[in-house]
Amino acid sequence: MKKGGAKMKFAVISRGDEKSNGLMQKIKNYLLEFNLTYNNEEPDIVITVGGDGTLLYAFHEYAHRSSETSFVGVHTGHLGFYADWKPEEVERLVIHIAKTPFKIVEYPLLEVIIRHNDSTKSERHLALNECSVKSVVGSLVMDLEIKGDLFETFRGDGLCISTPSGSTAYNKALGGAILHPSLASIQVSEMASINNRVYRTIGSPLVLPQHHTCLLKPLNDVDLHVTIDHISLVEKSVKSIQCRVAEDKIRFARFRPFPFWKRVKESFIND
Ligand code: NAP
Repeated sequence: MKKGGAKMKFAVISRGDEKSNGLMQKIKNYLLEFNLTYNNEEPDIVITVGGDGTLLYAFHEYAHRSSETSFVGVHTGHLGFYADWKPEEVERLVIHIAKTPFKIVEYPLLEVIIRHNDSTKSERHLALNECSVKSVVGSLVMDLEIKGDLFETFRGDGLCISTPSGSTAYNKALGGAILHPSLASIQVSEMASINNRVYRTIGSPLVLPQHHTCLLKPLNDVDLHVTIDHISLVEKSVKSIQCRVAEDKIRFARFRPFPFWKRVKESFIND
């Protein structure tokens, strides 16, 4: 799919530090000079300036219009997975945005539905990186069901359910595999599971395909600390947390090839 040109509406989001704010203003001025329209309510393209954390923030600002908004990230610190344009490349980036149709690359998202014991209402969230579930106090005991069948009873610090593009973030620190974002899947990784004669978990990260829903059902009545990317929630009396590959996708504007494995190598091995 291609999009682009002078009729586009854009928004620019900065991490908030001096360098990112300066670059944000520069990008905004350039794009206005090219007759693009600044519209932070309904942008066709959102340019983030900062890091991957800034793109996570921007994604949540516009998650309600994920099918109409594309993202591109400039990094003012280290190379990011989402923020892969360098500050010295912004002139080139701006010309690309203003003048050339661009390719849209879609990455899978995670859908999380939290249900409570005392309510018929549920909360739905979309995550770009992951959802993590921990107990606020003590260890967490929960059943993990996959596609309606009990898989294991987990006891330990918690579980992390990540998207393929989030697999290089928290998931990686937990020993999960790095997944290519073309794989419509989610990954379940453990945080310090207790394994002895009484409690047993698989111990390996699990990669679930699209429509293999997993359900976390807490067995002890503890408050849960649930994160959705950078957003931190305290959930009381949770009946279940349902995770699956979302129907929605995030769209990135691609102006040049930057293969995922090259980004992995440059971020974690060498550049
Ligand atoms: P933060 O604690 O300020 O930063 C987390 C770090 O993760 C930053 O260096 C960020 O990059 C990087 N990051 C974000 N998404 C990434 C991705 N998809 N692949 C590789 N690195 C990524 O928190 P934050 O900026 O609000 O971001 C929230 C994220 O932090 C969560 O989604 C979670 O993945 C991650 N996290 C990681 C750990 C861990 O590794 N032990 C623990 C908790 C949370 P930038 O510097 O470019 O922004």
